[in-house]
Amino acid sequence: MAERLQHSIGGQPTPAQATEWDVVYNPATAEVIGEVPIDDEGAVDRAVTAAHAAFASWAQTPILERARVMFRYRELLWTHREELAALVTREHGKILSDALGEVGRGIEVVELAAGAPSLLKGEVLQEVAHGVDAMMLRVPLGVVAGITPFNFPAMIPLWMIPPAIVSGNTFVLKPSERTPLTSLRLLELLYAAGLPPGVINLVHGGRVVVDALLQHRGIRAISFVGSQPVAEHVYRTAAATGKRVQALGGAKNFHVVMPDADLARTVEALVASAYGSAGERCLAGSVVVAVGDIADRLVEAMRSKAELLRVGSGTMPETEMGPLIRPVHRQRVASYIDRGIEEGATLVVDGRKGSYPSLGFFLGPTLFDHVSPEMAIAREEIFGPVLSIMRHPDLATAVAVANQSDFGNTATIYTNSGAAARYFRDHIQAGMVGVNIGVPAPVAWFPFSGWKHSFYGDLHATGTDAFMFYTERRVMTTRWWSE
Ligand code: NAD
Repeated sequence: MAERLQHSIGGQPTPAQATEWDVVYNPATAEVIGEVPIDDEGAVDRAVTAAHAAFASWAQTPILERARVMFRYRELLWTHREELAALVTREHGKILSDALGEVGRGIEVVELAAGAPSLLKGEVLQEVAHGVDAMMLRVPLGVVAGITPFNFPAMIPLWMIPPAIVSGNTFVLKPSERTPLTSLRLLELLYAAGLPPGVINLVHGGRVVVDALLQHRGIRAISFVGSQPVAEHVYRTAAATGKRVQALGGAKNFHVVMPDADLARTVEALVASAYGSAGERCLAGSVVVAVGDIADRLVEAMRSKAELLRVGSGTMPETEMGPLIRPVHRQRVASYIDRGIEEGATLVVDGRKGSYPSLGFFLGPTLFDHVSPEMAIAREEIFGPVLSIMRHPDLATAVAVANQSDFGNTATIYTNSGAAARYFRDHIQAGMVGVNIGVPAPVAWFPFSGWKHSFYGDLHATGTDAFMFYTERRVMTTRWWSE
């Protein structure tokens, strides 16, 4: 029988009193690997109470000691990286090498957080008037909460937890109900690194738990990552209750291929970007704009690569693309293939055809050509292995078309021309820009910087933004008379 998952409250596994439960699948086999409580406001309240009880003492723990927990956590995550990656593959389906990469990117945020003694330094200006000094101190907010999506079960909780707690806050995590196992393990390892009880807590659930977190008067800030409509809802609701919010939403990422691009390397990058993790990445390439006379060669090269991609269980070393997360999502992605055909695009590779393991939630790579900007496949986030190719005569038109998108997470140009790359950098409306890079994910020392409807808020995740987000600034002015 599948294990019934528990919350983690006050440093202890805590049985849920939920009346509703959901199942966690291994998407490659359709095996039920866990039962997750879809709990309610009561569980949120217990977790927030535990986080409050832990706050005063944690906030007063010397910063060097808080940073040392991060050093120990980093070592534990590194030692357990293969175990964590296997867990990610088991509950998400992505191939093991992608899962290992994800764990590695998460570890980098812990490395960033270990530098907190430098990052949390304040500022002093002496003698702003006779005998008067001014100083700025960074102080933690209190209890903060994180709400995470299914697609990076290790990395995205690690975007939030290390900078938040090393800054002296205590934390309540609500992981995705579709991939909750990795988060539970991340917490166990954090406590094994020496974190005092209650500094991090985890509550399982869905919409009701999220709304309870957004409304809770004991929570000072919300970090959210997920789809655009929920990000907007989270931003509006939490801001209306006076909370600080960073809400990272969906994406529709454009890749512009110039006639002078290195075709073989570009195709390799595009295939990895569009079909890696079955397209279930907020940085996945979704629309390619082929500029000028490269289009026919590009489509042909993409077709032969996509047709050869090995789809199967992420645990098999030869697999290049795993399953989608759930049958209902597979159905939704497949419906976009019908939609593209109806709207007049040319279906070059059809992911619905092909022989895949029968029990898992598989859909093969799909490629459309002659896509136009008004089609749904060019505008809406599909979040699956469907790539659309458009053809345009010049870079300026390609950028103008890309800029029509409601989203602005990431965009890439493939070129050998510095002038084209600079034009792209200066005119494309996206917060993370790549040049000859299929997945231009910033390293932890930079902000994860979506624009437009890909982000709601001011301060982004990771980088120095994270430390600004999770601290309040207190300015102190002092006067001492010398006689
Ligand atoms: P989702 O929005 O369905 O769920 C995200 C979280 O919100 C989950 O914890 C879920 O339980 C909760 N939730 C879902 N519906 C809700 C509702 N109606 N009210 C309140 N809470 C709700 O997202 P997902 O399917 O888990 O993840 C995929 C999405 O996340 C994609 O749109 C992807 O682009 C986006 N994403 C964005 C980034 C980024 O950095 N911008 C990174 C990863 C994923």
